[in-house]
This record gives sequence, structure tokens and C-alpha cells, in this order.
Amino acid sequence: MSQAPLTDRFGRTINYVRLSVTDRCDFRCVYCMAEDMTFLPRQQVLTLEEIARLARTFISLGTGKIRLTGGEPLVRKDIMELVREIGTMGLRDFAMTSNGSQLPHMAGDLRRAGLHRLNISLDSLDADRFRNITRTGRLSQVLDGIDAACEAGFRGIKLNTVVMKGRNDDEIPELIEFARRKKVDISFIEEMPLGAISEHDRSEAFCSSDEVRGIIRQHHELIPATEDSGGPARYYRMPGSQIRVGFISPHSHNFCATCNRVRVTVEGRLLLCLGNEHSVDLRRVLRGHPVNDHKLRQTIIDAMDLKPEKHHFSTNGDVQILRFMNMTGG
Ligand code: SAM
Ligand code: SF4
Repeated sequence: MSQAPLTDRFGRTINYVRLSVTDRCDFRCVYCMAEDMTFLPRQQVLTLEEIARLARTFISLGTGKIRLTGGEPLVRKDIMELVREIGTMGLRDFAMTSNGSQLPHMAGDLRRAGLHRLNISLDSLDADRFRNITRTGRLSQVLDGIDAACEAGFRGIKLNTVVMKGRNDDEIPELIEFARRKKVDISFIEEMPLGAISEHDRSEAFCSSDEVRGIIRQHHELIPATEDSGGPARYYRMPGSQIRVGFISPHSHNFCATCNRVRVTVEGRLLLCLGNEHSVDLRRVLRGHPVNDHKLRQTIIDAMDLKPEKHHFSTNGDVQILRFMNMTGG
């Protein structure tokens, strides 16, 4: 059935969906989770079949790009089956965001299953710091994971670094050199106020993309990249390297005008905006109409009217969004 692409009230075409496949994770990054998290009971979590059905339905509504995220997508049991299934759906772009811990033994299989691109989080190259930021993570495992991903032949690999003053801002030049050496892109992310955490004061740790660019410019010229990612990241290139350096700046730049994406949590809540609570319960529709996709399609089409014009983040320490990032799905 041919179908006009999903569009919202502001004329934006929505053709990119991020699907969270789990709220669980083997790490407990300080900006993302509390140390003792309670995870969702199994019956509240979408099954892999339900997630695949969502993927198929969104694709039938014009979605060309899907990213699997979490929590840590690679800790979900049988995730490879889902990747394999979505890998056959003919997406223009099929990506995953991972913390890298499982990549040493999974990277090759993910590529063979049809995954095109990987984003891997890396906040520090110092093992002790890495442990402090992730609370449970082992740097060596993630570095092995990055190497395994590089060998697996993905179309693209990008590192993601959340920059925090006093925690890892002094490592920016080293992280750039690492990315150049590995020939992978790198994005620096401003911390977003998602969920209440006690570990650090978000307003004190906040480091703007302008500051990060200033630090990099002491070492490399940054030339704005001409291609448009269609997303919140601004990309630059540096002389002497093919890699791109991205800046994801929800605070200092309003990227909402070109927003092309929605998210689905692992409970099946369709989130129309990262920085707002607007959501639609797709799990109820999935389970209430297990055979026919008509109601599901219509619910998704109608939900686009709820997509707000923009988000409202601030850095003054207020928590505006109560869900944690592991629930939101990056
Ligand atoms: N577990 C995977 C990972 O860490 O890459 C995927 C999920 S994680 C929620 C997706 C991305 O969101 C990661 O790059 C992480 O660093 C980032 N993130 C988590 N909490 C954040 C926050 N409060 N502000 C900005 N980025 C955040
Ligand atoms: Fe886990 Fe990713 Fe959140 Fe870190 S950022 S706790 S790796 S979900």
C-alpha cells in the first residue's frame, strides 16, 4: 500500500525512527541512570515480534532510517534475530547506538545481519575515569569493541562523547586524536537534563559545544561540513583527516525546525519529542489489534499532530523531564 510520508503540523517529514529495545544496561553512566535502577517487568516490555511489527509499520509509512537503542541494545536476549529481521526490510539506513561492551564478540555478526552503521559511546580514554563515569564499565572491553567494529566493515562508525566539566573535558584533544587514528567520526554531546540524578550537578558539569569547539580549534582547524545530516548534530572536518567531528547541542542550538524523528520506548510509548512528555501508547494498539495493522498505522499517523514545535531544555538544574535517558532511548 503506497502512503504519503508522515508529516506533522509544522510541515516536517518524519522518516527516522529510534526504537528502544530494552531499558536495561550493563553500565550505569552517571548522566543516564541512578546507581540502583529498577527495570521494567517483562510484560510491560515489547516483545521482539512487536518491535519488528512496529519497524515494518513505520517503514510502510515512509520511514527510511531506523536506529536501535536502549538501554544497551546488545544486552537484550536474541537481539541478533531482530537485527536480522529488520535488516531484510530494505531500509536506506539501519543503525544502532551501543556502549560497545558486547561488540568484541558481536560486531561481525551485527554487520552480517544487515546493520549498516554503529554509534559507540566513549567518554574517556582513562580506565579509572571510564569506570567512574560508567560506574561498572571496563574501558579495555569497549576499546576491543571499537576495534572489532572497525574490522567488521560497517558503512560508518561514530563515537559519542558526553562532555562534562571537571570529568572529561580535558580529554577532548586526546579523544579527537583517537578518532583520527581509528578513522571514525566523533560527536560531542551536551548533557541533557533527563531524569533526576544525584551523582553530579548537571548545571556545574555542563559544557557547551562552543566551548568544546574552542578547545579543538587550539589543535585543529574546523571546517563546517557541507552535507546536512538532517539531525541535531553540526558537523565539521579537519585538515589531514577524513573524519567528521559532530556537535550535538540541544541547549545552545535549536535543531527542532528540521527535526525528522520520533522515538518509541521499549514499553511502546511513541515519543514525539525528546524534550517533551507528549506520547502515545502504541503497546495498547499492538496488543489490542494483533493481526490487522490498520489501527496501528492510523494511530501513528494521528500522533504526528502531537509533535510539538520545539523542546524546552535549560541548564539551570531544573529537571523538566522525569524519564531517564535509558527509558527514552538516546
Ligand atoms: N547504551 C547505549 C549507549 O550508551 O550508547 C545506547 C543508549 S544511550 C541512552 C544513547 C546515548 O545517549 C549515549 O551516547 C549516551 O552517552 C547518551 N546519553 C545518555 N544520557 C544522556 C544525557 N543525560 N544527556 C546527553 N546524552 C546522554
Ligand atoms: Fe547504559 Fe548507555 Fe545509559 Fe550508559 S548511556 S547507562 S551505556 S544506556
